[in-house]
Amino acid sequence: DPLLDPGATADELAFEGALRPASLAEFVGQPKVKGQLEVLLHAARLQDRAPDHILLAGPPGLGKTTLASIIGAETGRPIRYSSGPAIQHAGDLAAVLSALVPGEVLFIDEIHRMSRAAEEMLYLAMEDFRIDIMVGKGAGASSIPLELAPFTLVGATTRSGMLPAPLRDRFGFTAHLEFYVADDLERVLARSARLLGLEIEPAALGELASRSRGTPRIANRLLRRVRDWLLVHAGSSDLEGVRAALELYDVDEAGLDRIDRAVLHAIAHRFGGGPVGLSTLAAAIGEEADTIESVVEPFLVREGLIGRTPRGRVATPAGMRHARADMREPTLD
Ligand code: ADP
Repeated sequence: DPLLDPGATADELAFEGALRPASLAEFVGQPKVKGQLEVLLHAARLQDRAPDHILLAGPPGLGKTTLASIIGAETGRPIRYSSGPAIQHAGDLAAVLSALVPGEVLFIDEIHRMSRAAEEMLYLAMEDFRIDIMVGKGAGASSIPLELAPFTLVGATTRSGMLPAPLRDRFGFTAHLEFYVADDLERVLARSARLLGLEIEPAALGELASRSRGTPRIANRLLRRVRDWLLVHAGSSDLEGVRAALELYDVDEAGLDRIDRAVLHAIAHRFGGGPVGLSTLAAAIGEEADTIESVVEPFLVREGLIGRTPRGRVATPAGMRHARADMREPTLD
């Protein structure tokens, strides 16, 4: 579902770029992570050295890419973007690393999806700023050491649990991004509305914030849909616009989208409240287990609607109430 998928679509990249905060001061919310990064970046600036390697962990759409670009901007260093899926061979990584200029920030999104061989090359690169390049095969194979320019690796992952310990340990600092509280999302929305030249009442922004799944990307995306709705229905109040647009796009009062509701519905109605294993649940609703685990579950757990037990996922009493009020089988197509 392109509207509620917390991953960015191609069309959205330009829109997101325009709304992306450029400094820590502009970055809304996440006070803990901001405070930690402020000290880390300030110390590096005082000593005129590259900051430690940083791992950004948390569900999609919470600001990991944004923070990476802020890390570059705040330290006055260029930044290069790459991603785990694009690094499938050690050679892919060697090409990226050997092209870095001194002090550059290397951002690797979805770093848990890099290949094993690349991961091992990265250990040495992070620690000693060098890599060994293998040339030839079999008995004639040899390795050529290559010195790298000092760099700062910023890794982002939605699944920090999937990173092997040796990789996790090589980051000087791990920032855990949390879902945003409604007040902070309202500030994200107010900022976006200003940048888009929209005048929307605070009450309407508040309602939108409370239904944006704790995720700035989703808040900004729904804001665009609300803007369209208000354009088409001139004369309606902003609050009416928010309610009608969200109804139209299938976001419920608690901010649950269709996949969230499908998961909750399946646990509550098909599996009698659980416990049910992840793969069974994924098969039952026809979604990827990975999406459920990294996107849907963290949100439903935080909302107190489901719980994780050693025997599988269960619906909490609040989750059962929510599912009972919503008996319609959600359609996922
Ligand atoms: P991630 O890399 O975690 O998937 P992004 O950094 O791409 O998320 O953020 C998605 C969008 O949400 C960006 O366009 C950005 O403008 C907005 N955003 C994220 N975090 C914040 C924040 N703290 N303040 C303001 N906007 C934010």
